[in-house]
Amino acid sequence: MIKASRKSSSQPSKTTGLQGPPLFPPPAKTLEFFVNYACNAKCPFCFNPPDASPELEKGLPFPELARRMFAGFAEGYRGIKFIGGEVTIRDDLPKILGLARKIGFTQIQVTTNGIRMGDGRYVRSLLRQGMTHVRFSIHGHTPELHDRLVQVPGALAKIERAAAHLRAAGIPMGVNYVLNRLNYERLPETLDWFYERLGLSDIIVYFLRYQGFGALPKNKELLRLRMSEASPFVLEAFRRLKAAGRSPLPTLIHFPPCAVPGLEDHILDWTVDPTGSGQGNTREDRVTLPDRTVGKIHEITNSGKRKIAVCASCSLNERCLGVETNYLNEFGDKEFRPLALTGAARHLSPSPSGRGRGRA
Ligand code: SF4
Repeated sequence: MIKASRKSSSQPSKTTGLQGPPLFPPPAKTLEFFVNYACNAKCPFCFNPPDASPELEKGLPFPELARRMFAGFAEGYRGIKFIGGEVTIRDDLPKILGLARKIGFTQIQVTTNGIRMGDGRYVRSLLRQGMTHVRFSIHGHTPELHDRLVQVPGALAKIERAAAHLRAAGIPMGVNYVLNRLNYERLPETLDWFYERLGLSDIIVYFLRYQGFGALPKNKELLRLRMSEASPFVLEAFRRLKAAGRSPLPTLIHFPPCAVPGLEDHILDWTVDPTGSGQGNTREDRVTLPDRTVGKIHEITNSGKRKIAVCASCSLNERCLGVETNYLNEFGDKEFRPLALTGAARHLSPSPSGRGRGRA
């Protein structure tokens, strides 16, 4: 799920190599719409349903979307986010953004794979209609990683072009990055690249969740990754970012604290208090899916976890939601160790299969 925006600044980030865009502003109470399930990429970890009907692929018709936008504004929502599928597949996206601005939403975010935004004229048309924030889905810092994962040659180059247009326009940009077998060993350098090369201010690292396309057997086989394999690379990435004085640091989603000891303050969805970790969603943030299902974002993001045997002796037991159930179904719970009462956490035990190597 998308995370609500966070720190406010009208100044360029001082910690990026580039004169980056301003940081995301403080969270406004936000509506999120999955406007479609259709997409022009083929990410094997996509959590959307692989068997969506043509109607769901197409998404909510504009009149219904408009009605829900008006109703949300009347309820006090001032932020609005559009995600898919791929939102830029919809030819009426400029019209949707224009309506959001006309209604009065002050934070209007588009989450995109960036493929269509490689066209500067298209980016400018979205900016004219009122887009104020962009979040890219980027899964590697080289074409060998990113283009291979999204299965679109030239996709990363288009994102770089889009980021240059948006940076020049002063638009805050963020990244959704899904950690998996093919990219986990490159995480430290990929995060460095996001800050240095793209000048990004808001990065979310998701641990792969085996749902949607990610639950298809061939995709599971391609991407499966143990947390004990990923953990050293996540810890090293944060160590490097802290040493370099990067701010804000990335947010982690779908990691239990015992998988990345010492980073619980950066995990969005580990605790029973939905606003008690990371810099998360407000309690009211709401999402609407193409099938018209409506839910609270923090409830959806925090769902699907369960406690394991070692939780009983963990210092975070009372506050922690546990480990992703679909992860436990794949790998069991043998690699997890409780965090000590002193706060001096013990690391995950080595993976039975060893550290493993990416297949990239
Ligand atoms: S309570 Fe359980 S899942 Fe949570 S950090 Fe502790 S051992 Fe891990």
